[in-house]
Amino acid sequence: MKKRVYLDHAATTPLDRAVFSAMRPYFSEEFANPSSIHGRGLAAKKAVAEARKKIASAVGCNADEIIFTSSGTESNNLALVGIAEAHAYQGHIITSAVEHASILETVAHLKRRGVSTTIVGVDAYGRVNVDDVKAAIRPDTFLVSIMYANNEIGTVQPIAKIGGFVQKRGIAIHTDAVQAPGLLPLSASKLHVDMLSLSAHKFYGPKGAGILYVKRGTAMVPQVRGGGQEHGMRSGTENVPGIIGAAEALGRAERNRPKESRRLAKLRDWLMAEIQSRIPHAQRTGHPAERLANSASFRFPGISGEHLVMRLSERGFECSSGSACSTGGVEPSHVLLACGISKNDAQGSLRITLGASTRLLHLKRFAPALAEEVKKLQK
Ligand code: PLP
Repeated sequence: MKKRVYLDHAATTPLDRAVFSAMRPYFSEEFANPSSIHGRGLAAKKAVAEARKKIASAVGCNADEIIFTSSGTESNNLALVGIAEAHAYQGHIITSAVEHASILETVAHLKRRGVSTTIVGVDAYGRVNVDDVKAAIRPDTFLVSIMYANNEIGTVQPIAKIGGFVQKRGIAIHTDAVQAPGLLPLSASKLHVDMLSLSAHKFYGPKGAGILYVKRGTAMVPQVRGGGQEHGMRSGTENVPGIIGAAEALGRAERNRPKESRRLAKLRDWLMAEIQSRIPHAQRTGHPAERLANSASFRFPGISGEHLVMRLSERGFECSSGSACSTGGVEPSHVLLACGISKNDAQGSLRITLGASTRLLHLKRFAPALAEEVKKLQK
């Protein structure tokens, strides 16, 4: 049997071997608690401090502005709930209709707690219009949260423009940048953001290691209380191997970004053109230009995306019909619906996300298999 071809890097990525090597000692010999004051405790503390510095350098911030969490989901929750609690759950926040569930569900929770919310729409490509954000701002707006790049259709948002405007108004801005590392620049100052969420398993690091950048002076109440770790912002004994792995992986992602994002964009463009020539009625989803270098997404009228994914899996190709975090149900993707696609048409969606192991030869095998399976399902 041929080796399986993994084309679902937006869902998660394999742990890089070099990252695993950097983590390994912290599972065994260097297992001590960074809060212990004996030698090995101090060594663990130092390793965490160095990892924090590395991550701060990738984000272009100070080390004390980095908070380690358990996931992108937790980072998003802390960013939104932490700032809302600091505002006594009063006032107004703005987000977009295409955010990940960890933002949209948290915004719904805040609404139930009394916060006013505005969810701005997107255009047919899934892009937020800067003017819509400007128009939604109210005197009591204390937070704008717009994702950097979409996990389902790859559309990149004009964050620097939105951030520039929002910061000038003295309002905090958060971006869910979970899909960005290795593909888009991360500098918080150039993006004009006050908070930024990351998750190591999306960039060849370990699962269970999230990051939240919070600019100094941003009002925030911790949501996990206890021993006061993470400058009091997120208590709990540090996930030392996870933190070491996250730092190693982010450093690598940043170093490889210029070359690797160019390589992936070429493969993506080849694949998108090939799919359209083999399946003429295939509809591209997401933005034609402002999209992640590794992301190709389509919908095929008249078929079920879930069935297509299962058929492709039987043939050795692993991709996704939307976001892995929301599959399991047959609800159409909220992202496609927000792009103005009907419930029926949104059913036949496919997301193909490339990564470090992807080569042209894989895509040359994938494209005809996809065309065959689409044809069979359409019958
Ligand atoms: N935000 C985006 C855009 C994502 O794609 C994901 C994961 O799919 C998350 C947040 C959640 O990250 P985690 O899986 O680390 O909880």
